[in-house]
Amino acid sequence: MVFEGLAEKLQNTLKKLKGKGKLTEKDVAEAMREVKLALLEADVNFKVVKDFVQKVKERAVGAEVLESLTPGQQIIKIVNEELTELMGQTQSKLTFASKPPTVIMLVGLQGAGKTTTCGKLAGLLKKQGKRPLLIAGDIYRPAAIKQLQVVGGQVEVPVFTMGDKMSPVDIAKAGFEHGVNHGNDVIIIDTAGRLHINEELMEELQNVKSTIKPHEILLVVDSMTGQDAVNVAEEFNGKLGIDGVVLTKLDGDTRGGAALSVRSVTHKPIKFVGLGEKLEDLEPFYPDRMASRILGMGDVLSLIEKAQASFDAEKAKDLHNKIKTQQFTFEDFLEQLQQMKNMGPLSQILEMIPGVGGKQLKNLEVDEKELLHIQAIIQSMTREERLNPSMINGSRRKRIALGSGTTVQQVNRLMKQFEQTRKMMKQFTDMEKSAKKGGKFK
Ligand code: GDP
Repeated sequence: MVFEGLAEKLQNTLKKLKGKGKLTEKDVAEAMREVKLALLEADVNFKVVKDFVQKVKERAVGAEVLESLTPGQQIIKIVNEELTELMGQTQSKLTFASKPPTVIMLVGLQGAGKTTTCGKLAGLLKKQGKRPLLIAGDIYRPAAIKQLQVVGGQVEVPVFTMGDKMSPVDIAKAGFEHGVNHGNDVIIIDTAGRLHINEELMEELQNVKSTIKPHEILLVVDSMTGQDAVNVAEEFNGKLGIDGVVLTKLDGDTRGGAALSVRSVTHKPIKFVGLGEKLEDLEPFYPDRMASRILGMGDVLSLIEKAQASFDAEKAKDLHNKIKTQQFTFEDFLEQLQQMKNMGPLSQILEMIPGVGGKQLKNLEVDEKELLHIQAIIQSMTREERLNPSMINGSRRKRIALGSGTTVQQVNRLMKQFEQTRKMMKQFTDMEKSAKKGGKFK
């Protein structure tokens, strides 16, 4: 889970305050000492921690907090606000050119996730109705060009390549021309990285920058490298100038030091975060939502957006009709399961629900497996059986269990659950009908 360690510690510390009726300055000082330790352990920059704790403390010992009826909650509110502030307050969007094409240049060290992020970003922008073009400018890392072609193919975005014999500036120039001639409104350039920052790299990127004049230079950094990521960001910003940061591998970052320090050290916003290896695992970064997640207050907005993005409105209407006319079958059930899976791993979804987090999430792997079993069982049914579950007798159940690698008991359980769901749906539609009838008499 993102920020698991930090989240658990902060939440425990703040929970202690919440339980108390009245707080003293000593209580606050003790809690702030724990907050400070938690942040330092999370590898947050030392100076950032110091300033942060100082600010929270000043606000927390203010009269209006200690004398309020719910001082513990007031302090949680302050920590939430200050965490949000630390990460940049509001979402920082990409700058689009008033006259397309918009040029976005991705830079960063090798292995940070630049090429993958190029593909993810192109996919995201395409979904928003843009016509992106990817330019393969990483001529040093073996296979980077091929990799960009593969990810481009997966998100169905064209990739401009000229092999690895031309200079990055020439490739970028030719790619830009190509994009203009083909009506692409966003051009994303993948550049070469190195294992470490060196002069050659910076010079090369400077050359591309001054020739192409990108609207956005996004630095891709690996959040799992903690303070190293922050140092890299500081150097790139000083030597090249960047407009924003993409923090990758946040899915594996249980500490969160980079995410919490990058903004205040470099004064450049985190614009996107990478949350997995799959191409849909890139999200805009919302400081307020991230702060709420760290404090276990959930992130309902992101959850709703995810649901909206993966559910098809037409299909939802269709489903509603089926429920009304009681034609809901195992086929529909399977489709629902698949849509749910499109939203991402269950653990990532549940993390956004207020009050769920930390320990509860550790038991979830089992549930993911259960979903897979259900899917396998339904897939082992014939189409006729899915549409007409009442025909699934004992011998059919045996066959289905065998075919799906499950047991007859598991099949029985699913059949029972399905029947209950159908009954519940019938009750809902009956309620809906009588409510409508009632409406007519009014
Ligand atoms: P580049 O050298 O900067 O172009 O790095 P790549 O794009 O090749 O990425 C290096 C590795 O990091 C690959 O195995 C990617 O799949 C992986 N990666 C990139 N972004 C993420 C992310 O957000 N989460 C996870 N878990 N892995 C990522």
